[in-house]
Amino acid sequence: MNTPAELAVGHEIVSYCTKCKMDLGHTIMSMVKGKPARVVCRTCKSEHNFKAKKGVKDPNAVKAPKKPRAPKAEKTIPVEQEWMKQINASQKPLRHYATNETFNSGDKVTHPSFGEGIVQKQIYPNKIEVIFKTDLKILIHAK
Ligand SMILES: [Zn+2]
Repeated sequence: MNTPAELAVGHEIVSYCTKCKMDLGHTIMSMVKGKPARVVCRTCKSEHNFKAKKGVKDPNAVKAPKKPRAPKAEKTIPVEQEWMKQINASQKPLRHYATNETFNSGDKVTHPSFGEGIVQKQIYPNKIEVIFKTDLKILIHAK
């Protein structure tokens, strides 16, 4: 076999280092059939089987390029989960929802159709956003 001169025990060869995770200079420790078998990494001193170069110079380059995050339409917390959390946390007395009442954010209301809810915020002077078990609703208040 026509072995290139540089392939010999004790010589340096570029091998992929499994520890450093990049192509680095290694010292050939043993040869099998004219090919390097065991090598020692000159960087981390670990001995391992010879691995062909991977063309990896920068460990960060191994990782798949970060995909631009799919623009998720906001992180959707299930409404029911959020509603449950707020209902449990609320210390406020339950008020009956009525359009002629005035509500503030954090108020706990009970609605004839939607059940119990928590006022999230005032949207317009006469409109409030209320979280109910099934959905966020915009309700009129302070009429
Ligand atoms: Zn190494």
